[in-house]
Amino acid sequence: MQKIQMNVPLVEMDGDEMTRIIWNSIKEILLKPYIELKTEYYDLGLQKRDETEDQITIDAAMANKKYGVAVKCATITPNAQRVEEYNLKQMWKSPNGTVRAILDGTVFRAPIIAKGIQPLIPSWKKPIIIARHAYGDIYRNVEYRVGGPGKAELVFTNEKGEETRQTIFEFKDKGVLMGMHNLDQSIESFARACFNYALEVKQDLWFSTKDTISKQYDHTFKDIFQEIYDQEYKERFEEAKIEYFYTLIDDAVARVVRSEGGYIWACKNYDGDVMSDMVATAFGSLAMMTSVLVSPDGDFEYEAAHGTVTRHYYKHLQGEETSTNSMATIFAWSGALRKRGELDGLKELVEFANQLEEASLKTIEAGIMTKDLALISELPNKKTVSTERFLIEIKQTLDKIRG
Ligand code: NAD
Repeated sequence: MQKIQMNVPLVEMDGDEMTRIIWNSIKEILLKPYIELKTEYYDLGLQKRDETEDQITIDAAMANKKYGVAVKCATITPNAQRVEEYNLKQMWKSPNGTVRAILDGTVFRAPIIAKGIQPLIPSWKKPIIIARHAYGDIYRNVEYRVGGPGKAELVFTNEKGEETRQTIFEFKDKGVLMGMHNLDQSIESFARACFNYALEVKQDLWFSTKDTISKQYDHTFKDIFQEIYDQEYKERFEEAKIEYFYTLIDDAVARVVRSEGGYIWACKNYDGDVMSDMVATAFGSLAMMTSVLVSPDGDFEYEAAHGTVTRHYYKHLQGEETSTNSMATIFAWSGALRKRGELDGLKELVEFANQLEEASLKTIEAGIMTKDLALISELPNKKTVSTERFLIEIKQTLDKIRG
């Protein structure tokens, strides 16, 4: 059979450790035999980032902006131990953070649902997609350890030098203090990214904050979402027969747990951080969670939500067999290829992406899976396979589907 052709390259961001190995195997076993794979390759492996003083990450993000669609492998965010392990010049920043800042995007995380891998919450039948705001709040805070009695104030000085001043607290003894911020522009981008994504996947959008307690900060988020919805999206939502609704975060949590899924839940930065891990775990495994970064300009970056699976990598280096789940990385590729196919009008590429996902799910549903899933699957005939074997099994299923 003739290979599927591509017109515009996909921006390919390679990564580290076990996921770097999986990355290459996916390309060799599941992609290259079928597609004349056209990518612009950026090696975001830690060594290359160190060699280029992290310029490679910036170049990759700029290429993402240029071409519109990227696929990214998991990468190490260095800490002190990694600086020693890799003899790094510096403790380079998180590549995901760098790409996110350049694209000003919102991260959408969705679980992959396979029959036989039951969510821990029995009522959940459809995916719950978490949309996480990726700017500000506690992640850009200023903190202070109060050592003893004193007065804490919130002071804002405008351009003219005029001050507004509010007392936060009069400390009689030791305590803690924190200041944080956000920007209307970033909240607006977040809102538009969520509304656009809801329209694209035709699912309801929920948004939750704690506006009853936070009457300025969280209330601003609520108001901005509502204004943008009313002015720019209401009609399109009605046409698509989907809903936007706002509720308090406590109410949202209660509703989510009782729901059957099938909607997008937009969360502020910290809520999204916490809730996405809760949702991933309750759906079965971190290795079944996909992630896509969407920018307000309509650029997309697809990746797995998990890290580089260091523990398995060290086993691999010692020559031991591993059973690492490649589902989320496969779905990152299929998501990116489908999007490229849609943008370029390449039906065959879109169809291939769908078939690859179908083959991956069918393989698991036939009982062939990696260890992480075998531990939680209720299928009676399940068989645990190695990292590489799992990909070969998917290829065999894919060949049957493609005929
Ligand atoms: P991790 O996600 O790599 O692994 C945590 C645990 O989850 C593993 O021990 C394993 O039990 C399980 N797990 C995760 N993915 C799996 C898979 N595909 N198959 C089977 N089991 C899987 O997170 P970590 O160990 O905290 O971090 C390892 C490295 O990854 C760190 O250097 C960190 O900086 C990096 N990281 C990168 C990203 C990213 O690039 N998006 C995200 C998180 C962590």
